Amino acid sequence: MIQPFIPYLYLAAAVLLILGMRMLSSPKTAPTGNLTASIGMFVAIVATLLKLEVIDYGVILAGIVVGAAIGALLATRIQMTAMPQMVALLNGFGGGASALVASSELLDYGRTATLPEGIVPYAIGAGALIGGVTLTGSVIAFAKLQELMRGAPILFPGQKALNALLAAGSLALIGAVVVDPHALPMYGALVAVALVLGITLVIPIGGADMPVVISLLNSYSGLAACATGFVLGNAGLVISGSLVGASGLILTKIMCDAMNRSLANVLFGGVGADAGMAGVAGPQGTAKGYTPEDAAVIFRNARSAIVVPGYGMAVAQAQHAVRELSDELEKSGIKVKFAIHPVAGRMPGHMNVLLAEADVPYEQLVEMDDINPEFPETDVALVLGANDVVNPMARTEKDSPIYGMPILDVDRARHVFVIKRSMNPGFAGVQNPLFFHDNTMMVFGDAKETVLKIIEAVRELG
Ligand code: NAP
Repeated sequence: MIQPFIPYLYLAAAVLLILGMRMLSSPKTAPTGNLTASIGMFVAIVATLLKLEVIDYGVILAGIVVGAAIGALLATRIQMTAMPQMVALLNGFGGGASALVASSELLDYGRTATLPEGIVPYAIGAGALIGGVTLTGSVIAFAKLQELMRGAPILFPGQKALNALLAAGSLALIGAVVVDPHALPMYGALVAVALVLGITLVIPIGGADMPVVISLLNSYSGLAACATGFVLGNAGLVISGSLVGASGLILTKIMCDAMNRSLANVLFGGVGADAGMAGVAGPQGTAKGYTPEDAAVIFRNARSAIVVPGYGMAVAQAQHAVRELSDELEKSGIKVKFAIHPVAGRMPGHMNVLLAEADVPYEQLVEMDDINPEFPETDVALVLGANDVVNPMARTEKDSPIYGMPILDVDRARHVFVIKRSMNPGFAGVQNPLFFHDNTMMVFGDAKETVLKIIEAVRELG
């Protein structure tokens, strides 16, 4: 009786997913968006379970229980800084699941001897190829970020030719599967080539570029799910898969633009092959070290301040401390804003997530393009564990790896405080001339401990 309504349930799920994604575009509506999309996914699962094709609810229930337990454990245990590798693994599992579903459908056709028609054999091939590439590519991305393998690009002669050969071979094998879906050895070869291609595509990419790769693999996992949707004739999977595919691609483009790099340069440039923390390029000079008490005195005399958080804030988990500092300064009439660079940290939205966790009001978070004109009128810019995103070399030094990357113009503020532990460079491995500017004061130390000391000193000043 319920069967005729199942397509409508999928439609409702799709609408909820789209609305949820729309709401994710603002930090204010993001939690509701998350909930809305989760309800959409729940509706889709219920619709699928109501289908007559379900053979054994017991197995499905066991899968849900085991999967939910592992998911809940991972979600509660994972450190915020390790989120990119967790997303990588989840993408990989998604791709692997799509490839398995495509495979089981093909084996089913083999058993019933009914040749599939129309788009289905193509979708089976696409599901196996994209799903396989996503699975092994994501595992390599995970291993690089988790430092289970060398993060630097692994390059060898003929690498691009090999990748081109594997890609062409996989397309030819899809052709063979379409012509004869019963040719299981061809299908087996397709899966094997896809798994190898995932590895050879990702190993030449440096650990530094992994967040972009993960976003791209996220898009692939959506495309694989979409292909599986065609295999199963499941509209819900087609819609949600294409949403993931398109949004992952858009995010990849946003990240590339924010680093002023092309996707081709990220994927094939082998960037970071001989870079590393040891090879610090860029200008050298003498940086002036100051104490948290000095910073407190400057803050006491300021009318406005802009906090620029970066990866170091995430490492030190200094978001709560900096919120406390901001509250303290605001109490004494100082206007405090937070400048958000699109690629600060190690994953998209990294700073927004941390600052939201510390209950920093959304109105205080200002995007790069909107805040940059405000720096020349600002008394103090507080750079908290950020480096590349405030490196003025990006404006002028054509040879610098970060040339052309849009930056936050902190050097144009009246006073600049930089809190970091040492003179070590950031992610791009280049020294930052900002540290040697006349109006820059370095306060060396862990971001959280230093901010707590500044708060104490500000309070002592009364
Ligand atoms: P960054 O350039 O990596 O610099 C982070 C700084 O934090 C380091 O210089 C480090 O200096 C300092 N730090 C580390 N731990 C600290 C601690 N406990 N306390 C205080 N300071 C600490 O970071 P960013 O300015 O946020 O720039 C992000 C970089 O990542 C960009 O190059 C961007 O292109 C890249 N990236 C980001 C994404 C993304 O999605 N967000 C994706 C791909 C690439 P010390 O060691 O001296 O303390």
